[in-house]
Amino acid sequence: MATAAYTIRPQLLERRERLQAASGSVSDDYLNGLLAEVDAALAKVEVGRYGLCETCNDPIENDRLETNPHCRFCLDHLDERERAHHQQDLDMATQIQFQLLPKNLTLDRWETQYRYEPVGAVGGDYCEVSLLGDSASGTQSLFFAVGDVAGKGVAASLLMMHLSAIFRSLLSMNLSLAEIVSRANRLFCESTGPAHYATLVCGRTTSDGIEICNAGHCPPILLRNQGTEQVDSNGLPLGLFSGAQYTVTQYAPHAGESLVLYSDGITEATNVSGDDYQHERLIRSLRERCDLGAHAMCDAVLEDLSRFRATTPASDDVTLLIVRRR
Ligand SMILES: [Zn+2]
Repeated sequence: MATAAYTIRPQLLERRERLQAASGSVSDDYLNGLLAEVDAALAKVEVGRYGLCETCNDPIENDRLETNPHCRFCLDHLDERERAHHQQDLDMATQIQFQLLPKNLTLDRWETQYRYEPVGAVGGDYCEVSLLGDSASGTQSLFFAVGDVAGKGVAASLLMMHLSAIFRSLLSMNLSLAEIVSRANRLFCESTGPAHYATLVCGRTTSDGIEICNAGHCPPILLRNQGTEQVDSNGLPLGLFSGAQYTVTQYAPHAGESLVLYSDGITEATNVSGDDYQHERLIRSLRERCDLGAHAMCDAVLEDLSRFRATTPASDDVTLLIVRRR
C-alpha cells in the first residue's frame, strides 16, 4: 500500500488543481462534491488507509482503483449507486458478448448446434462457427472451435474476445487449418502477457470428412454409430510458445455420426457429493438422443447436467458444440 500512496498522492493533488481550474464551468455544488472526494482520498493517503475498503478493510480491487482513484469500497461492499453502475457495466458486457456469439449453421450434409452458458455475467469460453469460402475452388466449408481462456471473470472474457478477433481475421485468409492455429498462437503470444493462454480445439469440414486440431483442450468425442472415439490433444495451448507447431487429424464420420466439442465446465461440473459429471456421463446423455439431431442432443446434455448438479451452483462456463453429419 505504501508504494500506491507514493504514486497516488501526486495524482490526487493534480486532480485537485484541475478541478479548481474548472471552477466556473460547472456548478459549485458539483465541483465541491468532487473536491470533497479528492480530499477524502488524500486524507486516507496521509493515514496510510488509501485503497482499503471502508467496510471490511480489505484492499480494493486494483483495476477498479485505477479507473476511479476515489473508490471507497471493495466489490463486496459497494454502496447502492456504485452497485447500480457496476451492474449496468456488466449488463452491457453480457449484451456485447452475446451479440458476438455465432449462428448455428448447416452446410450440405453438416449441421452444427451449440450451447453457451457463462457462469457469471460474461464468459471466458470461446465458441465459433463460421462459413469459410475457398475462392479458388468456389467451395465452402464449416469452421468450428471451442476454447477455454485461463482465468475467470471479466479479464478472461476480454482475452476470449481478443482470441475471437484473431480467429475471425485469420479465417478470411484461405489458410490451412494447421496454419490458422499456428498463426493464432503466434498472434496471441505476441499480444498478451506470459500468464495468459487458452486451450482450444478447432476443425473444419472437408470434401470427405472433418479435420481437427487440438491445442491442449479436453478431447472432443467422435460419436460413431458403433462406439466412441476421442480426439486427443496433439499441441500446446495457445499463448505459451510462439513457435509451437500444430498438426491436424482427419476423420470421416458417416451419416448420423457426430463430433462433440465441449469445455471442462461440463465434465468437471460437480454435484452435492462433490463428484464430477465426467466424460462417460456426457457420452451417455448424447447417445440418448443422437437419432433426433444435434439440437435434441444439446438439450439432453444440458438437462442431464442440471439434474446432476441439482442445487450445486455452476463454477465454470459451459460450452457444448455438436457437428453432426446428417
Ligand atoms: Zn469490503
